[in-house]
Parts: sequence; C-alpha cells; structure tokens
Amino acid sequence: ILAVLTVCSTSAQKKKTMNNKQDTEQRIEELLAKMTLEEKVGQMNQYNGFWDVTGPSPKEGNAATKYEHLRKGWVGSMLTVRGVKEVRAVQKIAVEETRLGIPLIIGFDVIHGYKTLSPIPLAEAASWDMEAIKNSAKTAASEAAASGINWTFGPNVDISRDARWGRVMEGAGEDPFLGSRVAEARVKGFQGDDLSDPLTIAACAKHFAAYGFAESGRDYNTVDISNATLYNTVLPPFKAANDAGVRTYMNSFNILNGIPATGNSFLQRDILKGKWGFNGFVITDWASIREMIAHGFAKDGAEASEKAVKAGADMDMESHLYIYELVNLVKEGKVDEALIDDAVRRILRVKFELGLFDDPYRYCDEKREKETIYSKVNHEAVLDIAKKSIVLLKNEGNLLPLKKKGQKIALIGSLANDKTSPLGSWRIASDDNTAVSVLEGMQQYKGNTLVYEKGAELTIGKTTFLDELVFNTTDRSGFEAAKKAAKEADIVVMVLGEHGFQSGEGRSRTNLDLPGLQQELLEEIYKVNSNIVLVLNNGRPLALPWAAEHIPTIVEAWHLGTETGNAVAQVLYGDYNPSGKLPMSFPRNVGQVPIYYNQHSTGRPTNTDNNVFWSHYSDVEKTPLFAFGHGLSYTTFKYGTVKLDKKTYTKGEAVKVSVEVTNTGDYDGKEVVQLYIRDIAASLSRPIKELKGFELVPLKKGETKTVTFTLTDKELGFFNNEGEYLVETGIFKVFVGTSSDNVQETEFELK
Ligand code: BGC
Repeated sequence: ILAVLTVCSTSAQKKKTMNNKQDTEQRIEELLAKMTLEEKVGQMNQYNGFWDVTGPSPKEGNAATKYEHLRKGWVGSMLTVRGVKEVRAVQKIAVEETRLGIPLIIGFDVIHGYKTLSPIPLAEAASWDMEAIKNSAKTAASEAAASGINWTFGPNVDISRDARWGRVMEGAGEDPFLGSRVAEARVKGFQGDDLSDPLTIAACAKHFAAYGFAESGRDYNTVDISNATLYNTVLPPFKAANDAGVRTYMNSFNILNGIPATGNSFLQRDILKGKWGFNGFVITDWASIREMIAHGFAKDGAEASEKAVKAGADMDMESHLYIYELVNLVKEGKVDEALIDDAVRRILRVKFELGLFDDPYRYCDEKREKETIYSKVNHEAVLDIAKKSIVLLKNEGNLLPLKKKGQKIALIGSLANDKTSPLGSWRIASDDNTAVSVLEGMQQYKGNTLVYEKGAELTIGKTTFLDELVFNTTDRSGFEAAKKAAKEADIVVMVLGEHGFQSGEGRSRTNLDLPGLQQELLEEIYKVNSNIVLVLNNGRPLALPWAAEHIPTIVEAWHLGTETGNAVAQVLYGDYNPSGKLPMSFPRNVGQVPIYYNQHSTGRPTNTDNNVFWSHYSDVEKTPLFAFGHGLSYTTFKYGTVKLDKKTYTKGEAVKVSVEVTNTGDYDGKEVVQLYIRDIAASLSRPIKELKGFELVPLKKGETKTVTFTLTDKELGFFNNEGEYLVETGIFKVFVGTSSDNVQETEFELK
C-alpha cells in the first residue's frame, strides 16, 4: 500500500511540476547547460518529414542525411510527418538514440481541420461566430493531436484587401477588428486552456508580417505599405494572438521597407519579442532564410543565417542553413552564442509546456488515432460551422427556402457533383473524395424531383495541390442536356465557382470571374429558366456583376469542407436559416481592387460640383458589388433608433451604445449587429468607418432584444506613425446596422 501511495503522490507532483513556470525555466537552464553548440543549433533546425527531396542547394540533405542528423540530435522539429506510426518512429530516434534525448516538436499545416475538414478559414470568418470558430479549431486540434501532431502552422492572421491574392482563403478577410477576434478564437481553440493537455496543440500566428499586402495580389510579391497601415491594420490580429497566448509565430516571405521579414529585427525583435514580450519562438516560413539571397539581402547562406538569427528567427524551416552555418558563425565570432541560447530556450520552453519532456509519446496513441479521425462527432462539429459560414447574398423571387414537396429541381454544374473541390485548399492530410457533394446533400430531400446535369467540366487535367489548374475546356456538349433539365424544372440550382485548389498559396488570379465555361453556361440556362438559385463555391471574393443583376438568388457557400453538401442542402431547404456576413468586400470588377470598406476619405469624396473631378471611376460605380458585413436571412430584422447614454464623454469613460432589434419575419433567425465608428478629425486621417463591435443575436420570430455595445479607449484610439497608441478628443460618429453599407448614424463628443 505504501508503495502505491508513493507512486501516486509522485505522479501527482509530476503533473503539478509540468505546469509550474519556475520549474520549467529551471529545467530549461539545466538542459541548456548540458548542450553542445551543435546540439543547440540542432534544436533550431526543422526538417520536412514527408517529401524526401533533395533541394536546390548542394548542401541540402536528402532523406538519408536527415535521418543521420536526427540521430546526432541535430533536428529539433519535423513537419508534415503523417500519423502516429511515423511520428512515433522519428520521436523514438530523437528520444532514444540521441545523447540528450530531447523530444521533437511535430508541426503540420492544420489550417481548417486535419482530415475531417471545416470550411476554409475565410468562410468561417463569415460566421462572425467566435464560439463556433473556436470549436472548429478545437476539433481540428484534437484530430491532429490524435495523429501525433503537437503544433499547427495556424492561424493565418494576415489581413488582406486584395481578392486576387489566393491566400485570402486562409485568413479572416479585410478587417483588423474582426480579424483580431477570429485570431483570438482560433488560438484559444487550438491551444485550449492548458497546452499540456494532449488534446490541444501549439498554435502559430502567421505570416509575420504584412504578407497579405503583396503588391497587386501576386503571391510572394513586394510589400510596400505605410506605417499607418502596418500599425492599424496589419499588426492588430498578431497582437491579439499574442494576448490570447499564442506560443509560436511564423515570419513571412515578403520584404517590408526593403528588409525581408525573416531578416527583420524591427518586426521580430523590437515589436514581437520586445514591445509585446512574446516568449515563445519564431519559425521561418519555408526556406525563407535562403530566399533572402534571392531578395538581394544576403550574398550567401552564411550571411543569410547571420542576418536571420540576429533578427530573431529562431527555427529554420527547410532552408537547411542554420544547421550548416550557425556553428561556424559562432566560432568565427560573427554571432554571439547568447543569441543561440535565447532561441533554444524559447523552443525548449514550448516543448516543456506541451509536456513532451514528461512523456514524448503523449501524442502517440494508435487507438485514439483510430477513434478520432473522421469520427462522427468531428463530422457533426464541421457541419455546424459549415452551416454558419454560408452567406445569403441575394434572395429575390421567393425561391428560397425551397419547398420540400412537389417541386422539380434541376441541379447544374460539375461542382455540384464534386466530392473533392469543396474540401478547399490547404488540406494536406485529408483524403480526396471525402466531401459530401451538394448533389448528395440534396438527394436526401426526397419530396422533390431532382435532376442533375453537369453542363460542362470546370477544369481539365490534374487538380492537385501542387499543379496549376487548367480551365481551357471548350467542351459544350453537356449544355443541351443541362438546358433541357432547366427548362423542365420549376427551380434551377446552379453550383458554380472556383475549384478548391484555385485559391491558396501560389494561386493568385487577375480575373475574379467564373472560370472556364461557367459564365456562358449560366447565361444559357438563364435564357430557358430564370428561376435560378446560384450557389457559389469559391476561396475568395468574386466579381460577378452579371449574376448580381440577373440571378434572383445567390448563396455564398465558399469551400465548406467535409460536410459541404449537407450544409448547403439544409440551408437551401430552410432547415437552417443563414446568418453569415461577408468578411471581405466583393468587387464589381477587378479594376476596383483593392476595395475595402474602411478606406480613408479623399479630399474629393462626392460629386457635389457635378463635374468629373471627384474620386470615382467613369465606367463603374464606386461601391462594391456586395459590401463587407453584408448577408441576408430568411427572416427580416428591424432596427430601432440607436441610442447613446450620453452626448459627451471624458477620455477613459465607457461609451454605451444600444439598439433594439426585432425579428419581423416568418422564421427564427440570427442577426450580426455591427457597430462602426469614425473619428471625424484627428492628427492622422482616420477611415470613414471602422468596425469596433459586433454581436451575433439569436431572435425568435417576433422577438425583440436590446443590444448594448461598450466603447472604451481600446476601441476609440489609433496608432500614429511611430506605433504609439493615441486616443484623441473630438467628435466621433457611431454607425450601427446590418452591414457596413446599411447603418444608422449618431455621434458623440469625447472631451
Ligand atoms: C507556407 C506556410 C506553411 C509552410 C509549411 C509555406 O509555403 O507559406 O504558410 O505553413 O509552407 O507548409
């Protein structure tokens, strides 16, 4: 009995020790003192476990070299190792064959799920539902963790205003306030309350920083932005991630003021590790240390490594440079060993927090893996967020919700019968053909007659993550059958848009139209039956002026992941009343891009002079096709008058804004009530509107609720060009409403 008691109390003590910060710091120091310089540098080296490639550099190792390095303790992390079996194998080498037995941290791009997929992140942001977004990240974390992974390269918190950039699908859209809330929800979802819980994984806020501002939306392109944009638009979501306790950051490929982010000590040392006090570690983006040579910022690998480590990049992802250069750089006196120690401490700290030193195999449980992957609860979880991510863009002509009986429905478009494309981009682990297609989803409603015709293929050739997609199909042979089906139907549901791999990394576009023959097909079908419900599948805002004008009903269904078909069918049939709102403006044409709601006023904002010299285009309206925050419901909401508790406030005082919202339609529903402000005159020009509050309000048919927002210094201020936060007195306008372009306004004075 005594022996059992002793064992119990020791393990209880051990559990406690794991979470004790002071003990962790002591354990780090003890371990660091035992490490050789080579072993320290080894911790800063990450290898890809999946592609056994020999890279562009003669020094870059092949698989054999990587394993040799692993055995020597020269590898601190591996990425894209798949499944418990593989993770256990590499972890075993690190723990049992190296001198100090330091466990690996295993990273993976868990961007919107591991195998069971949630909607793409941009779609999730359209839910404006922070609890749902957090749960989605939690589901992704637990599924990835069950597969041996303990670190995700997410969330992507890049703000972007350019729909041409393929990676807008990975972020939360154009707005820093919404983006910050989403960043926080995702970090908390991935990491949970306690990182040592093996159902959670470490998160990584990326790409630090300003990657979303690649010029003309061309991926990896130069970034050239003002300090005002950097401090007020780009950095806030990164700061929110830090406040939520994110344990790692990834730097980015781009230059900023001529300095690559990887070699940028202003970003990584001054702001992140200095001002924000971040004590986790920074991973580089893929080979971004080496890319500094192509940027013309370093003459060779040695100089690139020196600049990167000095600037605060702690771990080298696949440049294969630190492992070959850092030891020499220290020996030559070019790099202070204290910098290496600092990086290693940070990396070890996260490994300790994950509990890897207490049990390096805590993520390696084959039984758990089997039970968790594609489990029923995970399917239910992703279905929940998929429904919430759908945005009803237009609903005229009384077509939706569909009646459940006695209708003849024609379902048209190859995307409707696709079980892979709806999974979206950035889905490294998930298997092709695992999405519920829209066709399958609709087939479950048996009261109607459903006829499916593809009309035309969307792409020809391969559709994989790494291949450029080809859209030049000229095969119209399916048009006639589709037209016949449409003609005979009461309602036509057309599923059109982009293939899942048409957005994502390296997937920039100069056109934001429907690729291939889809626009032509849409217009042909319209000629025979204009009762069309257009369901869009896309990873970015599209410019569809013809559809917006002619098609009565448009449903934005993005790439919704594994449960796509069920989510879409439930919304079309009214079993779920949509409540999503756009997290990015949809342009009328590409020429308007970048278009975003929180722009600044020009000196010539209106045409009161009735001449051409005001800020506008002569060939298209100035407004977006669908504004930020726009989204309809099957029910209607009526807003009462917006009220302030006072007319004048002193700095530091809370401003209370309230409004009554009533569900005046025939369905229960949810409304995202949005609050924007404008600082009328300040020491820097402020945007014409800035989102500063929102609330997702469930309202039963006929129900009224009062929504109250509180504005404090946190919402009313802004960063000046030196990065200082200022709250200035003066008049503020307050706008409350259902979307950025549909609000009522009032104002107050801050004294
Ligand atoms: C991307 C990162 C990603 C990394 C690892 C890079 O190409 O920019 O976002 O995490 O690859 O897959």
